[in-house]
Amino acid sequence: MDRPTQFDVIISGGGMAGLTLALALGQSGLKVAAIDREAPAHQLDPVFDGRASAIALAGVRLFQGIGLWPHVAAHATPIDDIRITDRNSLLHVHFDHRALPAGQNAEPLGMMLENRHIRTGLQAALDACPQVTLFAPDSALNVTRGPARVEVTLASGQRLQAPLIVGAEGRNSSLRETAGIPVHDFPYDQIGIVVTAEHEKPHGNIAHERFLAGGPFAILPISGNRSSIVWTERTATAKALLSLDSRGFEAELQKRFGDFLGAVHVSGPRWSYPLTLHMVPRATDLRLALIGDAAHGIHPIAGQGLNLGLKDVAALAEAIVDAARIGQDLGSPDVLARYERWRRFDTVTLSFVTDLLNRLFMVEAAPLSLVRKLGLGLVNRLPAAKTLFMDHARGTMGDLPRLLRGEAL
Ligand SMILES: Cc1cc2nc3c(=O)[nH]c(=O)nc-3n(C[C@H](O)[C@H](O)[C@H](O)COP(=O)(O)OP(=O)(O)OC[C@H]3O[C@@H](n4cnc5c(N)ncnc54)[C@H](O)[C@@H]3O)c2cc1C
Repeated sequence: MDRPTQFDVIISGGGMAGLTLALALGQSGLKVAAIDREAPAHQLDPVFDGRASAIALAGVRLFQGIGLWPHVAAHATPIDDIRITDRNSLLHVHFDHRALPAGQNAEPLGMMLENRHIRTGLQAALDACPQVTLFAPDSALNVTRGPARVEVTLASGQRLQAPLIVGAEGRNSSLRETAGIPVHDFPYDQIGIVVTAEHEKPHGNIAHERFLAGGPFAILPISGNRSSIVWTERTATAKALLSLDSRGFEAELQKRFGDFLGAVHVSGPRWSYPLTLHMVPRATDLRLALIGDAAHGIHPIAGQGLNLGLKDVAALAEAIVDAARIGQDLGSPDVLARYERWRRFDTVTLSFVTDLLNRLFMVEAAPLSLVRKLGLGLVNRLPAAKTLFMDHARGTMGDLPRLLRGEAL
C-alpha cells in the first residue's frame, strides 16, 4: 500500500471558513490538505448560496493579509452607515463611520460581499497557492487521532497524515460528533428568507436593520442598485410567504422594505435558512480544532456568524504558525489550548448577545416596546455608546490576532 501523504494540517470542510484557513496557512509556507464533500464547481454555482455577508473591517484586513482581497475587491460594497429602527417608530439609531474620532473614520464599518464572490475568490487564490491541495469531492472516511499524529483515509482511497486536523464542516460537523463533543441546539422557530432586491434609487452604502414582529428585516447594500435582504419570520409565516407567487411575494417584501428606495423587485431565486443557536462546550480535542459553524452557530441578526469564523481562522492560524516557527508540534495541547483560550469568551458572548437581541426585539408587550424605542433614541444621542457599537461592528475590539489587526501572519 502507498505511504500516506504528509501534511502540516488537514482541514475537513472547504466552506468559507475552512478555505480561508487553508489559504492563510498555505501562504505562510505550511503544507495543507483541504477536503470537501462537494465538487468545487457545485459550490461556485451562483444558485449554491444566495447570501451576501457583511464582513467586518477586521475580516477585510484578514482577507488583505492572506492575498484574498485582490480576488474579491471589485465586488465589495462598503458599509458606511448602519441604521436601526424598531417597527415603524420614527426614533432610530444610526451608526455612521464618519462620526468616529479622527484617525478611525477613514475606513468603513465593513464590506458587503456576495458569498458566491468570496467562494470564487478563495478558489482563485488557492489555485495560485501550491502549498494547499484540495481534495473535492471527497471526504474523510476514517480518521484516527493518535498521540503522535492524525491519519486520514479518504473515500477516494487516498491516505493523509498530519499532526493536526481541523473540523470546518459547518453545523453538522462529523469530526465534532466522532470526537464526542456535545452540541447544544436551540431552534428559534424562525426562518431567514434571503433574496436579492433591485431598487430604483441608490442605497448610498447604508445598511438598514428593521426590527419587525417576526424578527429582523435587513437591507444590506451590494453592487449597483441592489440590496441583499435577510428577512426573518416565524417558521409558519415564512413558509406561507415562500409559497406565494412572485407578485404576492414582492408585494409583501415592499410592505416591509418601504418606498424610500423606490419600487423594489426580486432578482433571482429565494433562499431560506431555518435558524438555530448552537453551542459547543469546547472547540478542541486530541489533535483536533473546530472552526466556523462547526464550533458555533448564531442568529444572523447582527451578521456576525462568518465573522466569528474568520476570527477563529486568524487565531488558529497564528497559534499554528507561531508553533511552526519554533519547531513545536502543531497539534500539541499547548497550541490547542492557546486557540481555545483565545476564542472562548468572544464566541460565548456573541452567542448570548445575538440571542438576547432577537428575543428583546420580538416582544410586542407595550412597556418593553416603549423602553426599546426610547433606548434606541437615547443611544442615538450618545456618541460614546455609538463609538463602542461601531468598534464591535468593525470587529476591532479586544485581544486581536495579528491578521485581524492588519499585520502579517
Ligand atoms: C440568512 C443568513 C445570513 C447570514 N449573514 C451573515 C453575514 O452577513 N455576515 C456573517 O459574518 N455571517 C453571516 N451568516 C453566517 C454565515 O453564513 C456562516 O457562519 C458561514 O457560512 C459558515 O461558514 P463555515 O465555512 O463555517 O460552514 P459552512 O458554510 O457550512 O461550510 C461547511 C463546508 O464543509 C463541507 N462539509 C460538511 N461536512 C463534510 C464532511 N463530512 N466532509 C467533507 N466536507 C464536509 C460542506 O460541503 C461545506 O462546504 C449568515 C447566515 C445566515 C443563515
